[in-house]
Amino acid sequence: MAGVLASTAAAVGILDKAVSITQKLANNSDELDKATLKLELANLMVELANAKIEAVTMQTLLLDAEQKIEDLEGSLKDKSTFTFKQGLYWKDGDETAFCPKCYEVNQIKTHMVLFPAGQTYSACWYCKNCSFST
Ligand SMILES: [Zn+2]
Repeated sequence: MAGVLASTAAAVGILDKAVSITQKLANNSDELDKATLKLELANLMVELANAKIEAVTMQTLLLDAEQKIEDLEGSLKDKSTFTFKQGLYWKDGDETAFCPKCYEVNQIKTHMVLFPAGQTYSACWYCKNCSFST
């Protein structure tokens, strides 16, 4: 956002210069000779072109910022429905556990596989990605 503020300040400064040139032209329109008028109009065009460049820069920076906000909102929303219970991660409405090792170490969400209990062993969850099991 610092880039947007700097770019906005630059654009305001440039527009101020353009307004000053326009006021000068308006106030002295009767006395200006053709060469001076052309010079001032050229200065005005330069300032307006600079303002346009700053506006395009601001647009790009704002689009980047908007994208970052969208990504952060998405991860925040995801985080609120992603909970740690009984040593595993769970997502609301999803019956399959996520691997805690993959999530906490590598920030990736990996579904685990449930091996149902047999006669001699209890049920366990297994991660195909990192081989973590419970
Ligand atoms: Zn894993």
